[in-house]
Amino acid sequence: MTELKIENSKAVARSTNLAGLTRTEIETALGCAFSLDAKPARMRVSQIWRWIYDAGATDFAEMTNISKDMRSALSEKFVVARPEITERLVSTDGTRKYLLQLAPGVEVECVFIPGVGRAGALCVSSQVGCTLNCTFCHTGTQNLVRNLTAQEIVNQVMLVKDDLNEWGHGPEDRQLSNIVFMGMGEPLYNLENVAAAIDVISDNEGISLSRRRITVSTSGVVPQMEALGEQTSAMLAISLHAVNDDLRDELVPINRKYPIDQLLEACRRYPGASNARRITFEYVMLKGVNDTDIEARELVRLLKGIPAKINLIPFNPWPGAPYECSSWERIEAFAEIVNRAGYASPIRTPRGRDIFAACGQLKSDSKKRRASELRKQSAGTPVGAP
Ligand code: SAH
Ligand code: SF4
Repeated sequence: MTELKIENSKAVARSTNLAGLTRTEIETALGCAFSLDAKPARMRVSQIWRWIYDAGATDFAEMTNISKDMRSALSEKFVVARPEITERLVSTDGTRKYLLQLAPGVEVECVFIPGVGRAGALCVSSQVGCTLNCTFCHTGTQNLVRNLTAQEIVNQVMLVKDDLNEWGHGPEDRQLSNIVFMGMGEPLYNLENVAAAIDVISDNEGISLSRRRITVSTSGVVPQMEALGEQTSAMLAISLHAVNDDLRDELVPINRKYPIDQLLEACRRYPGASNARRITFEYVMLKGVNDTDIEARELVRLLKGIPAKINLIPFNPWPGAPYECSSWERIEAFAEIVNRAGYASPIRTPRGRDIFAACGQLKSDSKKRRASELRKQSAGTPVGAP
């Protein structure tokens, strides 16, 4: 369990943070702290759970259906806190990017992308950095890599709900209506924690986000795909990006281990895929690399028999990137072929480019930049402050 700084200033509290934990983890924590048997611990968890995940409480004092004595005993042992936001940027298009510090020098980003009406998607990270080196992705160039805990994943959702001020809102009245695991990292290299986080986020007595509104994107970790479907019932997205192995080996090097035919076979077997629950195939448009009409036709041929939608992503540039984005005419011509074959193929509008929040632009290189700044800062931002 993570130990969080409560006030960044002098005192570093060594209390366990309950926010972001699974039911079992909270049960164990309470059981140990108060020598409770399983049943009373479970009952207590139900009460606290609603306060944390439905009401968004960050203080035991708010938990008014719990006795005063118990509340004060809880606050002696535990906290309900958020990770520290070290940077919060808002794009001209309304996209919000948050840089979070999980431990000194360990930072991840998450991005909220408002949609039409009140809908909006939160793009969460599953790892700090990524061990894979897709040649068009900025995250892959980052050295520091570690898996996030389930708590660290859930807490990205918690703090964005704080920032949007939408605790207690019903499903139809929420801006944060979808979650996509398309931030930093390869979620299927961290499946256990991703699955535990999805359990918390979709729990009916809490955040209660439907599993159909949670999408996990993978570069193609074939051996974990079936387990993902079975354990989470989440929607699946595949970062395809090329239609032949030679090119995909280069762009998405994990292809050398799990080539396209194996990947598509695993898609055909993905639990729960149907015309109503299609698999999304992401295809980044790289000028002169993968964007010809021939490739568009081959894409359609490859996906035959798979309930699919195709998402064309204009390449988002980053400093030193070895690619350019295809021209708008080229992307439209490509989309036209895919559309004529009967696939919905939305072209993903780049969002938040001005704050480097678009797909593949995430990289917490701010780690280096901020190291000296952090030393200068005496206190920084209090936990949970926007
Ligand atoms: N590791 C997972 C999820 C995170 S990446 C995966 O690869 O699927 C989320 C999406 O952004 C992937 O489809 C990825 O291929 C795409 N992406 C990465 N870099 C990009 C860039 N520079 N421009 C556009 N899309 C990019
Ligand atoms: Fe990792 Fe996905 Fe980026 Fe590839 S595209 S380096 S798998 S985050």
